[in-house]
Amino acid sequence: MSREQLEELAWRLHELARLLANRAGEDSSTSSRPPSSDDPFRREERGKPVAADPDGAAADSSDTAPEKAGKPDKNKIAKGPGKQPGAKGHWRCQPIVVSAEVAHAPMVCAACSAALGPDLKRRCVSAHDSLELVRGDMALQVTATRHSYFAVRCPCGHDNVERPRVGLSSLIEGRKRNLRMSERCLVGPMLATFIAALSLRCRLSRRKIQEFLRDWLDLELGVATIERCIHEFGLASEPVVERLIEDVRAAEIVHLDETPWYQRGVLLWMWVAVTAATIVYRIGSRRKEELAALIGDAFLGWLVTDGYGAYRDHPRRQRCLAHLIRKALALAEGYYGAGSGFGRDLVRDLRRLIARVHDGADADALERLTTRIKWNCQCNRHEIEKKVRDLAGEILKDWDAVIAFVSDPNLPPTNNDAERALRHAVIARRISFGTRTDEGSRFYAAGLSVIDTCRRRGVEPWAYACSLIAAARANLTLPTIPAKAAA
Ligand SMILES: [Zn+2]
Repeated sequence: MSREQLEELAWRLHELARLLANRAGEDSSTSSRPPSSDDPFRREERGKPVAADPDGAAADSSDTAPEKAGKPDKNKIAKGPGKQPGAKGHWRCQPIVVSAEVAHAPMVCAACSAALGPDLKRRCVSAHDSLELVRGDMALQVTATRHSYFAVRCPCGHDNVERPRVGLSSLIEGRKRNLRMSERCLVGPMLATFIAALSLRCRLSRRKIQEFLRDWLDLELGVATIERCIHEFGLASEPVVERLIEDVRAAEIVHLDETPWYQRGVLLWMWVAVTAATIVYRIGSRRKEELAALIGDAFLGWLVTDGYGAYRDHPRRQRCLAHLIRKALALAEGYYGAGSGFGRDLVRDLRRLIARVHDGADADALERLTTRIKWNCQCNRHEIEKKVRDLAGEILKDWDAVIAFVSDPNLPPTNNDAERALRHAVIARRISFGTRTDEGSRFYAAGLSVIDTCRRRGVEPWAYACSLIAAARANLTLPTIPAKAAA
């Protein structure tokens, strides 16, 4: 090539490299991409917490007024979420139209066990209104009921007073108001379940739920009341999830996967364990202890996982082939020269292996196929291209886990079950930027576990959730999720 041609070529290469480097460095702050597309690891490096609500971000960009420039500290003081001290209060402006009344009177004397008949004089000690969602056939209606509580004096002299029962509570030190579940509540169990369903299953924000209830059910509820209902469902779900974790530990095959999750902008991980009849989520760090919290230290069954190192110690493991096939596809379709042939062969052989095992091919044919895959990897183990070398080494290093499903036809070759279970949470994370507190993360994971386990077992989740909330408020034994009908 002439000198001009070389210079031209070098110039064009330089431009291409610059373009690609710029594009690779772009994130939500330097392009029109959404913040959810930012690399989770780099986001943490920058140490900049994710904007929790769009209002906050808008306020930041608007306060460029010159008089504020002199005293930046005033704007930097982090305000807590919710109502600020001194702010104007809100209260209920929609009158409640009561359509039914329920009297709660003591039936038996606590002192002498005599029956307290309706002939005895009773006096009303407390009353509250309760809004409830009534699900009819193809109908949805909110009704208000007045619950009155009475005191009755027994002929023996004992004063029996009926009170709304108080159930589970979540106490956190230093919090102004703790969550205490009680029968004395404005929102009935089914309406609370409905609100929790809008949040957890339909991924609506608290404000959107408020808007929905106002627009479609003509029901005015505060954001705090809505928040409370969602948290009540999470709190009631926690003891149920403890039982579900026992089910997971006793299972034969457990699918495991994890995805990034944010709690107040801090990078955490959402784990999921999926068995034939149970799904349990957990939000925590990415360390192995979180894994132990899900499946225990003495798990004897099979794990189906991706290549993440925390899983490697478990002796009975099936490696997800879909991940390996994707990596091989990247080699086959990328600009790798020598690697593309290896990638192509690997994709073909792995797919063929899955199909042959599924069709129940004879042992000799399977043996030939696995030997070819292994040989192919061994040939490319010292390939000059790093990506090729890495993939071949990865498969060889984890060889037993890659082909475990060949000798055990019950094992699934891919981890699709766990990945599908995480999709819902991944979309929720992109909408909401995760949770804000430890309690919120725990409740969110517990609520999702209960809903998804119900769905997996063919149980209607919302009727179950309603009975769960009602039992947790009344301090009764919590119902368990029925086992799968088919199993
Ligand atoms: Zn008595």
